[in-house]
Amino acid sequence: MAESYDFLGDINTKKLWWSFKVYIIRIWELPSKFNEKEVQSIEMILQDSKGNRMIASIPKALVQKWSGLIIQFQMYAMNNFIVVKNTRIAQTIPSQWILTFSHRTTVNQIQEPSFPLEAFRFRTIVELLNADKILQSDLFDVIAEVVGKEDPRDLVTTKGKETKRMVIVLEDLEHNKIDCILFGKMVDQILPHLEDGTVEPVIVLLQFFKAIRWNGKTSLHSHFEVSKIHINSQLKEIETFKNRLLSDAPATTSVRISQISSQSKWSTVDELTQGPTWITGTIVAINAGKKDWYYKSCRNCPKKVDTPIGNRYECDKCGHTHGSAALRFKVEVMVYDGTGSISLLLWDREMVQLCGKRAEQIRDTEAEGDDEYPPTLNNIMDRKLLLKINVKSANIKQFDQIYTVMKICDDEEIIEKNTQSVLSAEPSTNTEGGCSNSVHVSADFNLKNDCDPEYNLDAMEESISSLKCKTPLKRTSNILKCGSQFVNETDEDGQLSTNKFSRK
Ligand SMILES: [Zn+2]
Repeated sequence: MAESYDFLGDINTKKLWWSFKVYIIRIWELPSKFNEKEVQSIEMILQDSKGNRMIASIPKALVQKWSGLIIQFQMYAMNNFIVVKNTRIAQTIPSQWILTFSHRTTVNQIQEPSFPLEAFRFRTIVELLNADKILQSDLFDVIAEVVGKEDPRDLVTTKGKETKRMVIVLEDLEHNKIDCILFGKMVDQILPHLEDGTVEPVIVLLQFFKAIRWNGKTSLHSHFEVSKIHINSQLKEIETFKNRLLSDAPATTSVRISQISSQSKWSTVDELTQGPTWITGTIVAINAGKKDWYYKSCRNCPKKVDTPIGNRYECDKCGHTHGSAALRFKVEVMVYDGTGSISLLLWDREMVQLCGKRAEQIRDTEAEGDDEYPPTLNNIMDRKLLLKINVKSANIKQFDQIYTVMKICDDEEIIEKNTQSVLSAEPSTNTEGGCSNSVHVSADFNLKNDCDPEYNLDAMEESISSLKCKTPLKRTSNILKCGSQFVNETDEDGQLSTNKFSRK
């Protein structure tokens, strides 16, 4: 019986009885945001004979039915899907639609594939190192030999979760090198292959990794669950690489993997000193559930109001009373800077700036999920920002690991310049270009602090603008760490102005 199949490039929302013949390029379980032992969905990347790719997703209700049955790199005939528009903020591959499994979906493995598997879209190390611009949303594959390793380090996140981090050095056949940073399970996966005295080459194929450029240095990072590392496996690409490697330089008895000393600087995150500090980073997690992304406040000022007295809320800061409380954002997020992550508390003004909506608008228009924060909050995910945080003595002495964000800047150009300068900086060095100590308040900034009595125009904003001068930005560390002691007793009282610290 001649069967006809659809192509992934022809998908639309108008029909349900789709029929595809596809390879599974990648399949992974997505853990629940709230309980990582629970699987939220099974995600897949499909590829058809034309090389087109699409995401397919098995929703929670069907996870048990399909768990373990669909295997990576195998070909399947798959029928009947519900097509939904892909509105996810965090993208794995550019995919306009998501093929969602329903109870009618059927999947049959094809034993004799009718077209060859071309599973990887490789990027060379040279391409990555020489790229003008690195897009963190861009995921690709890399094949290389492991030629160096750092000792793994233990990390404990602020949520008390233990994980590991390890740097390995990769080399291609032309001896170009790049660092690759592995986390968590991938560290456990590679360690047995890197034991001292290993003389066999260790070939890795990194699937769906991303490049990050910090301090002018490009390295490879995994990207949540979609990333996978294949080590010395039977994949034809690994076999080919190994054969070429050994024909260029026959196997010797010398050790192939050298130990490197820990070279990583914990950049901004590790070196925080008391007072206000600017850091750069990307929002990578929202630590909030259904009810802990906002607080009830006075309608006249940002002070928290708890329980109504009678049927009115009375503010013990300004004395204002009202029949209902206002809603303001208070959201804990995690920010990652290429080497480490910290927890930050974003208050109302910054959340409105990032999210584009007020807390009350969100509560009024979005239905509450089971145990989830409103989807609009995802607008802030993956945003690279310059954040002014207030490091309090409690952060240092009592190891309170949550820092309060006082201002944000999302201007790409300024972030880029600031990133380069901060991360390349060493303590107590002065600038050659005369950049660091000169202060130019740029007209590009909207710094109307008049309405904001608690925020004196301190050195911080000026420092940022001084980075816009044209001299080479090499040694400008101190300016970002200096600044007057900040008198901000904050918390609910800290949000008085509505000025936006971002360029128009
Ligand atoms: Zn008040």
